[in-house]
Amino acid sequence: MLHNDKLEQWDRENFFHPSTHLAEFARGNVPHRVITGGTGCHIEDRDGNRLLDAFAGLYCVNVGYGRSDIADAISDQAKELAYYHSYVGHGTEASITLAKMVLDRAPDHMSKVYFGLSGSDANETNIKLIWYYNNILGRPKKKKIISRWRGYHGSGLMTGSLTGLELFHNKFDLPLAQVLHTEAPYYFRREDQSQSEEQFVAHCVAALEETIAREGADTIAAFIGEPVLGTGGIVPPPAGYWPAIQAVLDKHDILLVADEVVTGFGRLGSMFGADHFGLKPDLITIAKGLTSAYAPLSGSIVSDKMWSVLEKGTDENGPIGHGWTYSAHPIGAAAGVANLKLIDELNLVENAGTVGAYLNKTMTEALGAHANVGDIRGEGMMCAVEFVADKDSRTFFDAADKIGPQIAVKLLEQDNVIARAMPQGDILGFAPPFCLTREEADQVVAATVRAVATVLP
Ligand code: PLP
Repeated sequence: MLHNDKLEQWDRENFFHPSTHLAEFARGNVPHRVITGGTGCHIEDRDGNRLLDAFAGLYCVNVGYGRSDIADAISDQAKELAYYHSYVGHGTEASITLAKMVLDRAPDHMSKVYFGLSGSDANETNIKLIWYYNNILGRPKKKKIISRWRGYHGSGLMTGSLTGLELFHNKFDLPLAQVLHTEAPYYFRREDQSQSEEQFVAHCVAALEETIAREGADTIAAFIGEPVLGTGGIVPPPAGYWPAIQAVLDKHDILLVADEVVTGFGRLGSMFGADHFGLKPDLITIAKGLTSAYAPLSGSIVSDKMWSVLEKGTDENGPIGHGWTYSAHPIGAAAGVANLKLIDELNLVENAGTVGAYLNKTMTEALGAHANVGDIRGEGMMCAVEFVADKDSRTFFDAADKIGPQIAVKLLEQDNVIARAMPQGDILGFAPPFCLTREEADQVVAATVRAVATVLP
């Protein structure tokens, strides 16, 4: 471990941080923080602060910090065999075991898993597989992908295009032409406030049908969505949304990609969001929770239906022209095996469901009546509080007032609790590790009440 009093200077001079105001950081106007350790739901920084991380890093440290079982598995693997590739049929005990463990947990109709490194590259893989699939089926025009406004699917060229948030498009010349966006299932922000949930679902379905009719179903390959919108505001879908969308996709022979980078392996209190909402995806994207972020690893789980076409493709064209050097990296795979075992042993999926429900309930009881709290929503171990300038007319604050970010700063300053100010809207997001206790949930709620009272007295 480095102990260096020049770290702040070196950080500001050399380190290009993602999702950061680059100029303000370089000028020293926004804080830098050096994280040094963590156990359970807490992290420590080098100034000696102990912080309750109610966002599990970037909703990824699902089993909590400091798990020596996973650290030991990584270390053992690194000593035994740090690397070998997985091209042309090569593998390791860890990667083969993990593939089986993933398929044992995935819905029955899934067939194989391709391992990558990040959620972004797994979604890039998915789009390539979809295009390949339609080419093998002799449908070269069927290539467009429909995503939702406020969806988050990564920040590469294709995946940044799929992401439906302006910050990820503006000035990057995105989205690319093959990507179309449709209505987000965001009931609280519906335009027509007189709509019931059922009417709003019908509206989302009609918007999708309109896009398909306008473009032609023979040009649309797939629809991608997170079971519960994450970065776009932590928004569970209104009742009936997913079955209605699935029916439209089935009718037009459009593939469904369930992006379960956040929801996969237990965050909703179910192993997958697909189980939770009764979806039948053709591809499932996994990442974060696969290793609880102890090592970078992602995956694309491929259905039987797609797999048989991919096999046909290689019979006709030779080996599939897709692969990364670090696909199924043994160290990531060893972390994944140890992580999934730990989730089972500690019953963490169930805990995510029960303590997550408790967090949502206590947050609603504590803040639901506040004049500037427009909506409190969540599912499993995900919760969001959305702030409004006026509740009756559902008027939002001016983004320049930065109400959400101010409240997140107060939570940290006053009570050492980390929540995330979501990037579009005044929305405070919580997605703690699955090992959160009820006492820790109480601390998160009490700290939020205090922070809200400070910024919105
Ligand atoms: N998909 C979803 C649903 C995500 O939330 C994220 C990241 O937050 C990604 C994809 C991209 O994953 P990564 O940041 O590992 O590339």
